Parts: sequence; C-alpha cells; structure tokens
Amino acid sequence: MLMQRFKGRRGSSWHRTNFIWLFRGLFYVDLFIPILTYIFGQAFLGGRTAIASIYRLSNERYGLKEIDNYLLTRFTKEIIHELGHTFGLIHCHVPACVMGSSTYVEGIDQKNSNLCIKCQAELMCELCNSFPELCNAYQH
Ligand SMILES: [Zn+2]
Ligand SMILES: [Zn+2]
Repeated sequence: MLMQRFKGRRGSSWHRTNFIWLFRGLFYVDLFIPILTYIFGQAFLGGRTAIASIYRLSNERYGLKEIDNYLLTRFTKEIIHELGHTFGLIHCHVPACVMGSSTYVEGIDQKNSNLCIKCQAELMCELCNSFPELCNAYQH
C-alpha cells in the first residue's frame, strides 16, 4: 500500500528524458508487504521509486550489542540494493554482491556494498540504453 502511494513511472524511457530519479523514502518504521512479515526495503524494478527502513537493521533490535558502523553499513547496503532495482537489476546469486537477496541482517553483513562484475555490466548496459550519447562518448 505504501508503495502504491509512491508509485512512479517505469522503464528506461523515463531515464532517457529524466536523469533525476528519486529515492522516495528512508524510514524508521517497520515495513512489510502482504506476503512477508517485514522487509528492509522495496523498489520498483526499472522504476524511480524505492523505500528503505533502518528499523530492523540494528543489533539492538535482536537483543545484541551494537557494533560500531554496523547500522550505517547495513543501511547503506540496503539503499544501494534498492537503487540497483530501480536501475533494472534483479537479485544476484553471487554471494558477496550487494544485489543478493537478504532476509536477515546477517545476510546483509555477508554482502559487500559493491555490485559484482556481472551486475556492473548489466548496470552499464542499462545506462547505455538510457544514454546512448554517453555510451558512444566512452566507446563502451
Ligand atoms: Zn532486492
Ligand atoms: Zn551481482
């Protein structure tokens, strides 16, 4: 329901004419969708709308001692992950890739904050489709 309110136009044609896309919401509330008890974030694939919540990312939430930078690092990875979806990237099976699906915070900890080589290539292709003039300029 929340995503319905923030629903944006989809597809790379939007990217062609509007370079500015929007990350619509960063929250400190518990997010969920009907089929899941909770989610860390959600995005429209190839769209311009994504949301993320810090609510379930702290160690304190699970009765554990807070560790320096864990919360910020997890939130950063979650935001990068959701932004990846807005650029058309789907979930990746490369273990360390930030586009891997994470159901638990431990899963987020096991990922890097970077895209794997495959996802980098897919992102580059998406950008080339959206901005052919840049693609030609860089001879990609
Ligand atoms: Zn995802
Ligand atoms: Zn990947």
